[in-house]
Amino acid sequence: MKTFKIYHLFYDLLNLYGDRGNIACIEKRLAWRNIPFETYRIGIDDDFDLKDADFVLLGGGSDREQAIVCNRLKEIKSQLVTYIEDNGVLLAICGGYQLLGESYVMNDEIIEGLNILKIKTIKGDKRLIGNVIIDSAWSNSKIVGFENHSGKTLINDYEPLGKVVVGYGNDGQKIDEGIIYKNVIGTYLHGPLLPKNPEVADKLITLALKRKNIEIPLKKLDDDEELMAKDIMIKRLLNM
Ligand code: GLN
Repeated sequence: MKTFKIYHLFYDLLNLYGDRGNIACIEKRLAWRNIPFETYRIGIDDDFDLKDADFVLLGGGSDREQAIVCNRLKEIKSQLVTYIEDNGVLLAICGGYQLLGESYVMNDEIIEGLNILKIKTIKGDKRLIGNVIIDSAWSNSKIVGFENHSGKTLINDYEPLGKVVVGYGNDGQKIDEGIIYKNVIGTYLHGPLLPKNPEVADKLITLALKRKNIEIPLKKLDDDEELMAKDIMIKRLLNM
């Protein structure tokens, strides 16, 4: 089978609260199914080509790190647009999610985003921190994660990743969380997201394989422990 190519973009700057665990999760779930893969850890000054990419991660970053990354993003915008419009699978977390949009407006500074998604983030005066539960069509069971952001993201008419059950969500209104655009997930959920929510990981792997015309039913893995951990978290947060 063709090698599955994983890209962690700007791993040296965009990697908060264990976001790298999303890469480890994809790697493991491919390895357990004997699907060959290669991972490319792309630093801020590295050249790269997403032509053969199957999975891209843009992790979270502090305001300072986002300001550094935003200049580099402009240089690579066209290949990211090509990848996304060609149904490339991309997971963007928190700071990375904000950077897919028009801008991140802070008190006296504006960080320009890629402007691939017509969404905008405005810094609020309160940090939105805590564990999150959402209901999402992307997973039969609830999705759990952890958010920590000041930015409030307005997603306009885009489809959210899910509906907030516990947590602040995109804009602090406790309604919508994240965004779906083609095969892109933008979300505030660290956790990391994928190890905590293996169904989402498999959905992304399936979409990536499908894009390469590989229609194999993914071998079922033993996720009992992951699902048990998730269940404990859900019960704790819902006081059940
Ligand atoms: N700096 C952004 C915010 O606070 C993103 C933080 C993050 O990636 N966790 O909104």
